[in-house]
Amino acid sequence: MAPTQIVSVRFQPLNLPLKEPFAIATGTQYNVENVLVQVELSSGIVGLGEAAPFPAVSGETQESTLSTLKGLEPMLLGKDVREWRTLAKELSTLAYDTPAARCGVEMALLDALCQQYNMPLYVFFGGVGTELSTDLTITAGDEAHAAASAKSIVDRGFSVIKVKTEGVDVDYDIRRLQAIHTAAPQATLIVDGNCGYDLARAQAFVHKAVEAKLPIILLEQPLARENWEDLNVLATSCPFPIAADESARSAEDVARLAQDLSAAVVNIKLMKCGVLEALQMAALAQVHGLGLMIGGMVESLLAMTFSAHFAAGIGGFDFVDLDTPLFIAEHPFTGGFDQNGPSLRLQADVAGHGVKMAAPMVG
Ligand SMILES: [Mg+2]
Repeated sequence: MAPTQIVSVRFQPLNLPLKEPFAIATGTQYNVENVLVQVELSSGIVGLGEAAPFPAVSGETQESTLSTLKGLEPMLLGKDVREWRTLAKELSTLAYDTPAARCGVEMALLDALCQQYNMPLYVFFGGVGTELSTDLTITAGDEAHAAASAKSIVDRGFSVIKVKTEGVDVDYDIRRLQAIHTAAPQATLIVDGNCGYDLARAQAFVHKAVEAKLPIILLEQPLARENWEDLNVLATSCPFPIAADESARSAEDVARLAQDLSAAVVNIKLMKCGVLEALQMAALAQVHGLGLMIGGMVESLLAMTFSAHFAAGIGGFDFVDLDTPLFIAEHPFTGGFDQNGPSLRLQADVAGHGVKMAAPMVG
């Protein structure tokens, strides 16, 4: 038997308490209800992955993820992890509509593969770097709450604040951003609309944001996913670069956005599409001269460390939004990136992604 043969695939709920609810324009999450995936090779190496279903985004839930994984297990058993690309394609064929579940498996496969050959994951992805600088997000909260959050974020050393807007009342969104800017004048802002505006409100938002001299460096997903034509109209008159997030779920989406000149930046989140597809999206974006952003769903240190290896290894990610571990009260892991304020540092000599469970998986 090859040492790289898959001998077991296990998965279990990963329930973690949040410090405060994580609210975006399309839904609010109160607890992390993710899934831990563990792949064991015949060598005894164990790879770890995390699926982070975000119901408001992909319709996936913890329960549906567990049942998808149960269905994928027979296909994986006995396969050789060195054929990860073939396996990733097969996962995509079998479970295209459940990207977070697929992604959790791909993460565990690549962690096991890299450990087997004693290679750091960021080296596998290209070895460009080991450090990233992340933003920190303000999700819910009125003007006063948002201003207090902004002050505490810059006090912790962050220079980029990401702000989720509600998208209902443009004047309110602008006032809230002004309160944030007043409380943290040195910080630049990434605004994430999460599909909350229509074209008229998005245009009004842009106009008023310019008038208010808000230091916006990126406007993420102002319009609904399928609103391709309106996005193109907005992009032609918007002074800030627009990032596609919900509109960029596949390489095909990236090709379309590049061709339409509708987005200047692509927000890549492994949970939207899986690792293999994300590699293709990043390559396409680079070929077309689009900027790269790395983000995530509400993910623990495990999946976020994987994404940090992905982005640092490939290089060229100008926008980094890997902040959700800071929203989680406890992480049952050891290892992972070292975070000091905005700075995320990967261990240079780790095998795989380097995240281990603090206590062994039961069952
Ligand atoms: Mg987003």
